Amino acid sequence: MEHKQDLMEKIVSLCKRRGFIYQGSEVYGGLAGTWDYGPLGVTLKKNIKDLWWKTFVESREDMYGIDAAILMNSKVWEATGHVATFADPMVEDLKTNKRYRADHLLEENGIDPKGMTVTQMGAEIKAHKLKSPDKNQLGDVRQFNMMFATQAGASGDSSATVYLRPETAQGMFVNFKNVVDSFHPKLPFGMAQIGKAFRNEITPRDFIFRLREFEQMEIEYFIRPEEWEEQFGSWLVRIKDFLTKTLGLDDSHIHEHEHSEEERSFYSKKTVDLEFDYPFGQKELYGLAYRTDYDLKKHSESSTVALEYLDEEAKIKFTPHVIEPAVGVDRTFLAVLCDAYTEDIMGEETRAYLKFKPQVAPVKAAVFPLLKNKPELVAKAREVYGMLKSELGAVMFDDNGNIGKRYRRQDEIGTPFCITIDFDTLENDTVTLRDRDTGQQERIKILELLSFLKSKI
Ligand code: ATP
Repeated sequence: MEHKQDLMEKIVSLCKRRGFIYQGSEVYGGLAGTWDYGPLGVTLKKNIKDLWWKTFVESREDMYGIDAAILMNSKVWEATGHVATFADPMVEDLKTNKRYRADHLLEENGIDPKGMTVTQMGAEIKAHKLKSPDKNQLGDVRQFNMMFATQAGASGDSSATVYLRPETAQGMFVNFKNVVDSFHPKLPFGMAQIGKAFRNEITPRDFIFRLREFEQMEIEYFIRPEEWEEQFGSWLVRIKDFLTKTLGLDDSHIHEHEHSEEERSFYSKKTVDLEFDYPFGQKELYGLAYRTDYDLKKHSESSTVALEYLDEEAKIKFTPHVIEPAVGVDRTFLAVLCDAYTEDIMGEETRAYLKFKPQVAPVKAAVFPLLKNKPELVAKAREVYGMLKSELGAVMFDDNGNIGKRYRRQDEIGTPFCITIDFDTLENDTVTLRDRDTGQQERIKILELLSFLKSKI
């Protein structure tokens, strides 16, 4: 356990030092539940989102992308039940007034809170005489709604209340008819969205795992009710493949957790979470839920628009059912980082490096002139760098310090290939190509560099 905590600290410090992730509003002491992505973080995050979009939207014929507004009419959230019930159980330290997730507190004390009501949680806390982490007495457990509310426009009355969306899903349901009218898709088909979501988590924690502002990548896949089991199974395979084969997560670090009836949302007939072995425990990364026709039905009842599908052959209208694969971008980012972080001995030194798959790596290659003070080497290196950068974008130039140090710097940010321009380059137009994982070097013609790199990324 200590070792794993240590790993988390190393990852957080690498992220800050090398420009992946900074604390949100850091110069003002931070803001709980927010983190800012730095130059390398933003690229890594974009690569994850692009791979997801390519896999689930661009390479399929049955998917329709959406980018809905974050601010939605509050009637959306009244209809779905979020205003009434999107809440977590909260308990307060009676001395410090700090607030905690009651279910997490029970878990940490070896009590399984699954399926418990707030009253039962309160009773367990009393029965076991549980104290707050500051060793103080705790109050009653109550539900705390996690939606962030704000006011739209200049009038201050409650009719102007709007919510920052707590999930991207509803932006797709409310656009169901628009997409059907524009594209006339045949069932089964899906809608997909990547975007920010906001939850006023009681205790944001574990770096970018539990945030108040985060990003989701969600699909609503519309089906006929009779095919739900088959579709559920296919989506489970697809999302696992995405995590392992596309992003490179270790298969043995991913575990299926099927929700029991008590754990499941009332509208869901089946939910399976893919949990990942984070350094702080096995936790939800990806959720797959069969949401039945709950959301479309609710919006049809509450709005003036029937969100239905017309089966043209059978001449019947019905409400499609939905399979929802939903994942957080930030939790995926953290899983990719945790699995990539590797320490080994190279050249009698311990090195820490990020073993990203080349497709995921924020920097694909780095170009070095062997010596900084030889203008002919620098000019040639700049030429190679310019050629690769115009084609690949994510390429770095580095002429600082000795070559060994430059390799270590690139290893630490997960650059899969380093290219060194030396005196032989000036003679025969070949360069040294060094592999991040093995440290092995080979000579390759400049003319072949681009096609080699393109075949790897
Ligand atoms: P948890 O039980 O961990 O709070 P959840 O079951 O409420 O998560 P969902 O509503 O299923 O989460 O959201 C879909 C996905 O969005 C999750 O699998 C997760 O990857 C991501 N997610 C949810 N809440 C957060 C958060 N506070 N910070 C970062 N990512 C989140």
